[in-house]
Amino acid sequence: MKLYNTMTRRIEEFVPIVPAHVSMYCCGPTVYNYAHIGNLRTYIFEDILKRTLERAGYTVRHVMNITDVGHLTGDGDDGEDKMEKSARETGKSVWDIAAFYTKAFFRDEEALNIIRPDVVCKATDHIQDMIALIKRLEDGGHTYTSGGNVYFSIDSIPDYGKLARLNLSDLKSGARIEVDSNKKNPKDFVLWFTNSKFQGQAMTWDSPWGVGYPGWHIECSAMSMKYLGEHFDIHCGGIDAIPVHHTNEIAQSEAATGKTWVNYWCHGEFLLMGNAKMSKSSGSFVTLPVLEEAGYNALDYRYFCLTGHYRSQLRFSYEALDAARSARQSLMEKISALKSEATESKDPGEGAKAYMTAFDEAMENDLGAPQALSVLWKMIKDSTLSSSDKLAAAYHMDAILGLRLSEAESRKEETVGSADDLRLLAERTAAKKAKDFKRADEIRDELKKRGYNVKDTPSGAILERIV
Ligand code: AMP
Ligand code: ZN
Repeated sequence: MKLYNTMTRRIEEFVPIVPAHVSMYCCGPTVYNYAHIGNLRTYIFEDILKRTLERAGYTVRHVMNITDVGHLTGDGDDGEDKMEKSARETGKSVWDIAAFYTKAFFRDEEALNIIRPDVVCKATDHIQDMIALIKRLEDGGHTYTSGGNVYFSIDSIPDYGKLARLNLSDLKSGARIEVDSNKKNPKDFVLWFTNSKFQGQAMTWDSPWGVGYPGWHIECSAMSMKYLGEHFDIHCGGIDAIPVHHTNEIAQSEAATGKTWVNYWCHGEFLLMGNAKMSKSSGSFVTLPVLEEAGYNALDYRYFCLTGHYRSQLRFSYEALDAARSARQSLMEKISALKSEATESKDPGEGAKAYMTAFDEAMENDLGAPQALSVLWKMIKDSTLSSSDKLAAAYHMDAILGLRLSEAESRKEETVGSADDLRLLAERTAAKKAKDFKRADEIRDELKKRGYNVKDTPSGAILERIV
């Protein structure tokens, strides 16, 4: 298995710390609003990565956090806690907001056929773990208290910014952001807030430094180490996490343990809306329920994501989504046909196996999903393969693609209505084609009397029993 490692900027052969096992941590959602489809692109990429690692023979332990406290609207410790802001704007409690959007997030994940991580951990359930980690950093001389907050001092470590390859001298002189005057270095960051600009913070906890709440970055270090140990294989997220969030996670984790924390850093590129990153703050974003209300299946969006490489930007448009929908529907129809034709379920023959190998190789080469999809299509269209072999190979591929191909209805089962009903249905199709809508409507009414609705599908009209 080959993976691009942001730390080295190279595609590397993946070698796990413990043979045959992978420990993987993914930064999860901040649950103050619905996830947008850009966020969901990142979770789809992580799901594909996990499925591919499993195909490559590894057992994967996948951990994801839920950020329900501490994520400020600004990355430089400025702004308001996103959860508190959402609660204030909606008149709900922060706990209600977190519960509501967490539920909505998992609904989206389920619709997208994203396998639930083995561990889903909420920041608010792990405050004591964060306090213990901050204490460890304090004991190691990596922190200072100023203006009531506990800060991490980036000058206490030799290699701050190595993931993003930050040029710290440039940063100091060119700092355009309004710098918190409590900070000794503009890039220092808060580990624990006791002094919030905003009064009446609802979520606070007692700590050795006073009543307050954690900074955003510490949660991922504390929870990943709790569930995966102090040295693990893979850490994922979107590329926007590289310069601040992941940079700070590395700084504090490695300062605490004195050793390398993560071996492979994997980042997904942005989903664009127009020419800009889709983002909640710009207000120009689309959610999965919006697509579903417009008649798309969540898996149309999953298919759309598979058409782009995870390290390339992908531009969202309804035209592009329409193309993905047509392709997915056509694939489902092909699978339906194969299901009704397939006669045996045995190991696929050599021809089909060659396609399966080509598919796996594309995926195991830094997740080449677009190439893997084209292997699937080539296999489906290959007239030298039997339907049984094609079906078996398609299912093998779908264990990674996650398009729920096995749920395509078999055409045999799908046929509803007697031979005479179906003759009438064909007559209606012919009438419509001849633009004889009067006759087409008459037939529709006749079929209704017989107990059927006529449903037009991309592959033609079908009958549905009225229940
Ligand atoms: P958040 O809930 O804002 O913390 O973001 C959740 C995940 O979505 C993070 O891994 C982000 O890096 C990622 N993300 C945010 N915006 C986009 C985007 N437009 N395209 C792809 N991923 C994104
Ligand atoms: Zn994180």
